[in-house]
Amino acid sequence: MKVALIVLCCIAGLWGVPALAQPVPGDMKVQWDAGAADCQAHPQRRLQVHRYDEHTYILRESLCQTYEGPFMYLLIGSTRALLIDTGDVADAKQMPLASTVLGLLPTVNGQRLPLLIVHTHGHLDHRSGDVQFASAPNVTIIGTDLAHVIDGFGFHQWPDDIAHVELGGRKVDAIPTPGHYPSHVSYYDGNTGLAFTGDFFLPGRLIIDDTAADHASAVRINNFLRDKPVTYVLGGHVELDKHGQVQPMGSNWHPDEAPLPLGKDDLAQLPQVLASFNGFYSQSGRFVMYSQARMLQVISVVGILLLIIIALSLRWWFKRRRHARAGHPRT
Ligand SMILES: [Zn+2]
Ligand SMILES: [Zn+2]
Repeated sequence: MKVALIVLCCIAGLWGVPALAQPVPGDMKVQWDAGAADCQAHPQRRLQVHRYDEHTYILRESLCQTYEGPFMYLLIGSTRALLIDTGDVADAKQMPLASTVLGLLPTVNGQRLPLLIVHTHGHLDHRSGDVQFASAPNVTIIGTDLAHVIDGFGFHQWPDDIAHVELGGRKVDAIPTPGHYPSHVSYYDGNTGLAFTGDFFLPGRLIIDDTAADHASAVRINNFLRDKPVTYVLGGHVELDKHGQVQPMGSNWHPDEAPLPLGKDDLAQLPQVLASFNGFYSQSGRFVMYSQARMLQVISVVGILLLIIIALSLRWWFKRRRHARAGHPRT
């Protein structure tokens, strides 16, 4: 019994399993590259890698490579590793994602640890790098459409149940969080207490396609995390500056960028914040929410109305001109 306990403690220590269900602390002191107003004049490293702890890495694609500047997360267990998202850049020459990630994996008995690639959701800025792993051995990719997500994780009652991914001494929970995207998944790693929330919850614009689903997801993830320690809530992008203002859309330069981590308290506010969303565009404190689909519909309707007004004005102008000519025939 005593021996078993010692062995368990050694395994726990080796892989960062919390002995008393307390998360293993990590290093979140990192200055993310700000990109540049002129990326030609000020070239940046293409991929920034931050070691949170021995078995956990945060990766970010340079804002100069893609204004999305997406974050990706690599969690390493004793039997396999998990990569959450693959970013916005497909071309390995532009973005050395696969070579970097595979290079971070430990080898066991001369074999690189198998890698499972999952996504927060199917928007291209979170999965374009999948192709770089296509021919790599021991790599499995779960697709992003709802059928693949349900099947790949083994959800029984999407979106009301929680699935689990076992990495060996490290269990990661997969929590359905549709609303921004129909098959959006957030993740919780009990070893570190990190929650990964993709575009569902991040320090930036909360783009909501299905308000009811998004609100239900906010309630669901808060219920799930209520009795669990959460060290940081990490999203897919940073779009706010330190003063809580949204960075201009499409900018390759984020001066004075807000920190990536949000807290459990921030997430706990989400259901209430979403309840105030008017379905088009709302701001509640530093939370900016909008529906891209509805905004596009409004822009289309306004555009059509403008065209009708222009057409009617031209008709009226030509009619007046014809009338004036008829009254004053030229010789
Ligand atoms: Zn997205
Ligand atoms: Zn995104």
